[in-house]
Amino acid sequence: MGKVLGSLKPELLWNHFEEICNHPHPSRKEEKLAEYIVSVGKRNNLETLRDEFGNVLIRKPATRGQEHLKTAVLQGHLDMVPEKNNDVKHDFEKDPIEPFIEGEWVKAKGTTLGSDNGIGVAAALAVMESDELEHGALEFLFTLDEETGLNGASSLKPGWLKATVLLNLDSEEDGALYIGCAGGKNTFARFTFSRENVPSDSVAYEINLRGLRGGHSGLDIAEGRGNAVKLLARLLWNLSNKFDARLSLINSGSKHNAIPREGFATFTISSSMSSEVEKFVSQFNDTVKKELATNEPGLKVTATKAGMPKGVMDKKTQNDLLCALYAAPHGVITMSPDIKGLVETSTNLAIVATEDSTVSITTSQRSSVESEKDDAADMVESLFALAGAEVTHGDGYPGWKPDVKSPILKVVKSSYEKLFNAEPEVKAIHAGLECGIINERYPEMDMISFGPTIVGAHSPDERVKIDTVQKFWDLIKEVLKNIPEK
Ligand SMILES: [Zn+2]
Repeated sequence: MGKVLGSLKPELLWNHFEEICNHPHPSRKEEKLAEYIVSVGKRNNLETLRDEFGNVLIRKPATRGQEHLKTAVLQGHLDMVPEKNNDVKHDFEKDPIEPFIEGEWVKAKGTTLGSDNGIGVAAALAVMESDELEHGALEFLFTLDEETGLNGASSLKPGWLKATVLLNLDSEEDGALYIGCAGGKNTFARFTFSRENVPSDSVAYEINLRGLRGGHSGLDIAEGRGNAVKLLARLLWNLSNKFDARLSLINSGSKHNAIPREGFATFTISSSMSSEVEKFVSQFNDTVKKELATNEPGLKVTATKAGMPKGVMDKKTQNDLLCALYAAPHGVITMSPDIKGLVETSTNLAIVATEDSTVSITTSQRSSVESEKDDAADMVESLFALAGAEVTHGDGYPGWKPDVKSPILKVVKSSYEKLFNAEPEVKAIHAGLECGIINERYPEMDMISFGPTIVGAHSPDERVKIDTVQKFWDLIKEVLKNIPEK
């Protein structure tokens, strides 16, 4: 057992974190860590359970005199995102993570650290093992496979947890208390076209649109960044209307939860239009670069002559497709009236992909208000249906609507103020958290999420700020003493 972090306080928490680093736990391969967690429960003679998915639940009775407090569950996820630098050899399924101290931070050698959510899990284990704390009856819930789609939480059964208060230990900013998150739902549209011969006396071009920043379709949606699908649709709609361009292919975007960064299209036009079209694309490049100068200095749109495609889309489908893509919404739909700066509802125009005779479009809607999420998805559906596309929706996952009057919020807020003499910020996040899903199974659960400061999560840059881990621990101890009474 390494003791690289042995000098850090609180000792029990950091010991557990180092143990977590020793047990491989990339998403979907967390079994070794899950077994370690089970062993900690068992060696402390605590009721230790697993559900069919593998999620771990451990129960610890109230300390003497605290039986009147509501049962609280401390919750975190066991998996981590396995990312490493190109020059690092590391097998996430076998090799331990190697943490080290660098100034005020703990980092890992060339890989993600797994402080997301390893610090939260370590804190829960420390609470479980410590005999110096005062608390009511506790549960500890460790979910699997959060990072690839909240899958552990999604398989939780109603009725398994006894707690009515949930402390989610998976946020990444000291001084911030999270009380809401967005749910998500994908909407897919499919156009089917017939291929026609390229009109005679045509030339072919390919459009390359590159250099956008992209980003997370929830967290970065209000930044006003360029969307490659939108820009490409705008250009092609113009080329189609002004120069009778015939579309052969359009591709852009690769992930439903990322803002598309690049786009690619091929089209043909009458050879007599060649120089005008080239001029138009170059002017388009200048126009959009000017519009997006602050956010997208790297944007570049070019048209270059290309080999003749085998065929082009029938005119009607091309029209329907380009009108729909051009009209399709992207970005913020509503801001929250309760929490300043929080995006309440948004949609991401994420992917366009051409195959033999189909063009498939993926869009993704998010909202902290369930009905608004469905509304946004229906709005996107109605647009593509109007254009004659076949539209379907994914199952989606629920959000967690902020409740600024939540009793546990009051407790955590006043505990923070008392301990650190500073007012925490009350926030919500425009992305999915496990709380949304747990809340769906346990509608009476009073929930909050907080954590230490973690920077660069999901990248080899990931690091956790040491002094905020002590604060996180002190806050947990204080909150546990003050859980609302039954
Ligand atoms: Zn996490």
